[in-house]
Amino acid sequence: MTPERRLLSIVAPCYNEADALTAFHTALAAALAPLPYAAEIIYVDDGSTDATPQVLAALRARDARVKTLVFSRNFGHQAALLAGLDAAQGDAVVTLDSDLQHPPALIPELIRAWERGADIVYTIRRETADASLSKRLTSRAFYWLLNRVSDTPIIPGAADFRLMNRAAADSFCSLRETHRFNRGLVSWLGFRTAAIEFDAPARFAGESKYAFARMLRFAVHGLVSFSVWPLRATMLLGFGMAGFAALYIIYALFAFFVLAWTVPGWTSTLISVLLIGGVQLLSLGIVGEYVGKIYEEVKGRPLYVVRERHGFGDDQPSEGASSAAGTRNRSA
Ligand code: UDP
Ligand code: MG
Repeated sequence: MTPERRLLSIVAPCYNEADALTAFHTALAAALAPLPYAAEIIYVDDGSTDATPQVLAALRARDARVKTLVFSRNFGHQAALLAGLDAAQGDAVVTLDSDLQHPPALIPELIRAWERGADIVYTIRRETADASLSKRLTSRAFYWLLNRVSDTPIIPGAADFRLMNRAAADSFCSLRETHRFNRGLVSWLGFRTAAIEFDAPARFAGESKYAFARMLRFAVHGLVSFSVWPLRATMLLGFGMAGFAALYIIYALFAFFVLAWTVPGWTSTLISVLLIGGVQLLSLGIVGEYVGKIYEEVKGRPLYVVRERHGFGDDQPSEGASSAAGTRNRSA
């Protein structure tokens, strides 16, 4: 196959990005122009409530390469990425954020790494210009912990800005777990990889949708999806407490029968009850986190619901959304 005939897919999720999208598209088009590939640009509107749909319609009118998927509501960044990858037809698929924090100018470099034989090209964020110190520290601590406890190595700072060739993208799309932690899933896949570093600029417009609580939830999902270490730690804690309790019982019996020394013992009773109660609640919480996950997975719901598709040749405004509801819709 000659390079000229190859197709490159770009997947960009957007959630309330009306202010950044036009600038993003201009930068993207400029980055794609010198490349010897045909391109399709898939924007996934993740249930935006601002003018994003209108901006996307304008981009579609201006640029025939633009395709859009509109979700029926907000399903989250990871689901939007998956929907774009499901729909992408290209020989290589590049995913990047539409807020210009993943510089489109880097795409040619990703392509070169792919041409040199990499199946997956990662990008690693060196510095996020507008990330607060606390976000940087918590992010670093999270990746440190995750890599200690998980069997799948996960590169710190790896962004959801990456290129996958067709085989890698197909394998990625075959993973249909509900609580997605895409960075971990991509590492899990394996393949021949290459990495490129970049400096993330500040957000072009709008604000980050990952507030602290959301980051924390994301981190817990990442941990529980890729490690059973918390369960194991709970068990160890349980063993430790049981051992301690056994020794204490022996001591108590010894004190009662041999020393005949039975003080009221209020303090020690209270402490042991509180301690054991606390450990039990903690353990239950951890087990509950996993049980909740199992419940979500067992329901087997689609990972996203598409309300409208534009530019794919089978446009279906409003109706027939179920056929595109997060199940694979590309038969190839
Ligand atoms: N995004 C999305 N759905 C969401 C939240 C975010 O599709 O529920 C998109 C958003 O438009 C952006 C990307 O995901 O293109 C990353 O989001 P954001 O910039 O808020 O995250 P951060 O860069 O702060 O990690
Ligand atoms: Mg961002």
